[in-house]
Amino acid sequence: MKSIDPHMHTAEHILNQTMVRTLGCGRCFSAHIEKKKSKCDYRVAQPPAPEQIKAIETQVNKIIQADLEVRADTLTRADALQQFDLQRLPEEAGDTIRIVRVGDYDACPCVGIHVARTGQLGAFRITTWDVNDDILRIRFKLDRSAAASPS
Ligand SMILES: [Zn+2]
Repeated sequence: MKSIDPHMHTAEHILNQTMVRTLGCGRCFSAHIEKKKSKCDYRVAQPPAPEQIKAIETQVNKIIQADLEVRADTLTRADALQQFDLQRLPEEAGDTIRIVRVGDYDACPCVGIHVARTGQLGAFRITTWDVNDDILRIRFKLDRSAAASPS
């Protein structure tokens, strides 16, 4: 998780939670996060309708505009296992698990770096998406000129 763009990576958290709520799928199982554009892969039972993708984009922007606080707390590994899937955490995460929370919207074990508030992300846009063999790939960008200045 080193040197991953904190803005894009925080957007990934919000997108993942939005996918879970909207499509009922899991969080992304694979992600390529870069400063200019990023992509996330999801396993889906059926391809989403274009309106669903639009609704997902709208919802992510709602969470950004709500300017929610992004904060981290820690749980013991045993407690974390009861609530979260720890498969994507590196083994060296150890016995204390860091949980990153986006307001009350999302909570996810993560060792990465995030912005302090969602308002810093700017405008979220899904540029393209496609489905191949039950894998939905979403590519997205952030327009940071729309971002609130960091406080
Ligand atoms: Zn993270």
